[in-house]
Amino acid sequence: MRCLALLSGGLDSILAVKVVQAQGVEVTGLCFVTPFFGPGAARKAAKQLGITLIEHDFTDAYFEMMKAPRYGFGGNMNPCIDCHGLMMKTAHGMLDRHGASFLITGEVLGERPMSQTRSGLNAVLKLAADRDLVLRPLSAKLLDPTKPEREGWVDREKLLGLSGRGRKPQEELARQYGIADYPQPAGGCLLTDVKFSRRLKDLLAHEGLVRHDIELLKLGRHFRLDRRTKLVVGRNQSENERLLAARLAGDIVLRPPLEVKGPVGLLRGPAGEQTRSLAAMIFSRYCDRAAGQQLAVNFSLPAGERAEIGAVKPDDDGIARWMI
Ligand code: SF4
Repeated sequence: MRCLALLSGGLDSILAVKVVQAQGVEVTGLCFVTPFFGPGAARKAAKQLGITLIEHDFTDAYFEMMKAPRYGFGGNMNPCIDCHGLMMKTAHGMLDRHGASFLITGEVLGERPMSQTRSGLNAVLKLAADRDLVLRPLSAKLLDPTKPEREGWVDREKLLGLSGRGRKPQEELARQYGIADYPQPAGGCLLTDVKFSRRLKDLLAHEGLVRHDIELLKLGRHFRLDRRTKLVVGRNQSENERLLAARLAGDIVLRPPLEVKGPVGLLRGPAGEQTRSLAAMIFSRYCDRAAGQQLAVNFSLPAGERAEIGAVKPDDDGIARWMI
């Protein structure tokens, strides 16, 4: 008997694998990849568990879902119920290809406020293709029996009945299984991050979900200059380099005058004269000059042209209204 495990790499998903492995079920790990979350923790977990890991990028389907998640967003831009539902639906479509008969997840009843309440778990199943093939080994005894249990593919009696937010039972199980290395819960998803969510909301309202624009949200300070133009300013050397690497053909790069220390700025969008002046003013805030001083910001335009735009360095209040 073989199953696919939705493997985030967190402790719950590791334990879910261990519980069914203990019954002789062969497990293949499956993790999903988007610009918002990646395979890092799952790779580590799969290595520790000694199982094969499938990394599946489903960004296009994810973007489509993000436009109008049926169960809405959580505290930030995290559509957890729809996210899990989409993962399960996609995973279900992969069962045959990988010779697996059912899915397992590390969900625990009542552990998370949105997706893991009883109604949240049921909502996730509504979005999954075949709810009867989704086994949650950690809370199975508190849930309706699924096909793998009814058919005897796994022994329901040997599954668990965990619930609630406390982590003690999981930590105890981890000790019993000799698992010492696992990430803290709820890490690793940018959609739960307040600052990233604010930027993403702004992007959705203006440019929409575009992969290279989302990558840019992970860097620097962001300013919305007009409906179609944004300025991003690096916060350190590494971000300056990453901004330069992220430059697209139509982007403008801003730099301080040669004699002044300062960051790199990236201006994306059809910036007219007024918007460029605004960008120079905001950019100058991060150059090594006192507020109120004049400096000439260098603009590297598309097609190799250059320009200088003068700006008077503002204080923080002078740029706050554009900051995202
Ligand atoms: S925290 Fe992120 S990855 Fe996890 S279910 Fe929510 S949206 Fe999906």
